[in-house]
Amino acid sequence: MKAMTCPICCSTDIQGYPKQRGLYPLGIVAIIGLPFALLHQASAPQRYHCSSCGQDFPHRTPVARIARVFLIIFGVALALLVLLAIITATLSQSS
Ligand SMILES: [Zn+2]
Repeated sequence: MKAMTCPICCSTDIQGYPKQRGLYPLGIVAIIGLPFALLHQASAPQRYHCSSCGQDFPHRTPVARIARVFLIIFGVALALLVLLAIITATLSQSS
């Protein structure tokens, strides 16, 4: 893994913040599902702090990038499923 540098001053004197583990509202978890919430949490960029210029900046780790791809696939699949359910319901009503 290559050393991180500050995007502002290119210093390598970088400190990572502990990833924020914010609690999700239970309602959202119930609606979108726990896997979605977990994936979303995993895909959140890590925040870093540059000791040289004092700038904070986010950085997405490779794991977070993979989680983000899965999140998009999961979201699209979920949207298609909902769409399919609506179409099926509409078709069964009209017949
Ligand atoms: Zn800097």
